[in-house]
Amino acid sequence: MPEVRRLLPPGRLVLASHNAGKLRELRALLAPRGFAVVSAGELALAEPAETGTSFEENAAIKALASARATGLPALADDSGLMVAALRGAPGVYTADWAMADDGGRDYAVAMARVAREVGDNPNRRCAFVSTLALAWPDGHVQFHEGRVEGHFVHPPRGSGGFGYDPMFIPEDETRTYGEMTPEEKARTNHRARAFQAFASACLD
Ligand code: IMP
Repeated sequence: MPEVRRLLPPGRLVLASHNAGKLRELRALLAPRGFAVVSAGELALAEPAETGTSFEENAAIKALASARATGLPALADDSGLMVAALRGAPGVYTADWAMADDGGRDYAVAMARVAREVGDNPNRRCAFVSTLALAWPDGHVQFHEGRVEGHFVHPPRGSGGFGYDPMFIPEDETRTYGEMTPEEKARTNHRARAFQAFASACLD
């Protein structure tokens, strides 16, 4: 029987991400939990290539790379936007759709691509998905997923959040995540939901 659940006692924890938006949200979620959190960037760890074809595979690649490099438990998020009219694209390739020629990220271009590819299709439904992988240096990994359903608008609205936030409206809302405060976004978002599952299984 594979081990599916291992408790994580408070201590040092690496956040295996170089994405400032994700780090901000994960730090806020971890703040009341008593961990000494350090990010992969602060430790000058290299970003591993995300060669997986699923959120789980890519989250595991990132978490294991940080756990093995530091000898500490590491938490990674792999996430993306799944658009119904595009049969779930961009999905695991959500970050790639924002890749600019200079190697940076251009989310205005990425959001315009979503709108362009959906075109006249009236189906604007989409979901944000987050898979959190918690890895230990001995290679044990466990996963927790969160999802929020919603729809997209274009042009984008609001300057809050990060990434595709200004085009995403969660169900039962009228504002995009870009128009919400971080606290309002945290009430529904995929990463907060994945974190709740992680916290119930590993922290509480
Ligand atoms: P990855 O997990 O590093 O492969 O990248 C995830 C992609 O999804 C990035 O382009 C993020 O900007 C985007 N993304 C993930 N979560 C969110 C979110 O909460 N808001 C907006 N964009 C997100």
